[in-house]
Amino acid sequence: MLEVASSAELRSATDAAGQRGAGIGFVPTMGALHAGHRALLARARAENDVVVASVFVNPLQFGPAEDLARYPRDRGADLAVLAAEGVDLAFLPDEREMWPAPPEVRLQVGGLADRLEGLARPGHLDGVATVVAKLLHLVGPARAYFGQKDAQQLAVIRRMVDDLAFPNQIVACPTVREPDGLAVSSRNAYLSAPERRLATVLYRALSAGRDAFRAGRRDPAAVEAAARDLLEGPAGLQPDYVALVDPATFEPVKQAEAGQVLATAVRVGRTRLIDNVIL
Ligand code: AMP
Repeated sequence: MLEVASSAELRSATDAAGQRGAGIGFVPTMGALHAGHRALLARARAENDVVVASVFVNPLQFGPAEDLARYPRDRGADLAVLAAEGVDLAFLPDEREMWPAPPEVRLQVGGLADRLEGLARPGHLDGVATVVAKLLHLVGPARAYFGQKDAQQLAVIRRMVDDLAFPNQIVACPTVREPDGLAVSSRNAYLSAPERRLATVLYRALSAGRDAFRAGRRDPAAVEAAARDLLEGPAGLQPDYVALVDPATFEPVKQAEAGQVLATAVRVGRTRLIDNVIL
């Protein structure tokens, strides 16, 4: 595995791959790599000649009161995971390399960022779109891999690629979960033991919502209530939102249908967790 920290080194490595006619698969990450990232890397490995992964904790997508400073960072462990998953090229830029000055021109997401995560985290999805746009330009992959875990981010990236004619194919990968259902996340490391036990309610609640749909409920409020009841009742949590939305626009739906996304964000102690299921 080749490790590069600069765009120039990255470019010469990807140019060489391009000259060989090799298709590049790309997995952008913020590090603290876990089984969710590994699933993306394995899929990229299976579908491409050359696999590029990036590790960059992007300050543009963190709000002023968010966890940028304490976000878990472990370069040695990340490199071990990338090598074990057969990555060819690891791109590990520092902040000065990616943003030598704060970018003056940025992407702004429209209505898609006025809902759910966009409301709770102003500027977050703009910051994600801006860094992913730059990374896609730097790496030039045929395919780029994203997790369904961050369903609204995925919708934003898909829309960005369509709206702005990026030549990259976006591949969505299913959410990887712990045996008890909790979606694997770098932020799970923040949870104390009791919080970690409580956190299992997210997936149980979303599953209850999906079960209500499977049992024939078509009123979105009824599907959402089935999930909300578990979060608010026994667990005593106050979700930021529990919402059944269209997977492309993230707008509320009038009637529950297969393929829609039931999403939630819940604060467990100081840690904000997000998860979703597809009906
Ligand atoms: P992050 O490092 O958190 O920015 O995530 C990098 C990529 O991994 C994103 O496309 C995420 O959606 C994806 N990802 C994170 N957690 C999971 C998971 N549990 N299952 C599948 N993909 C995930």
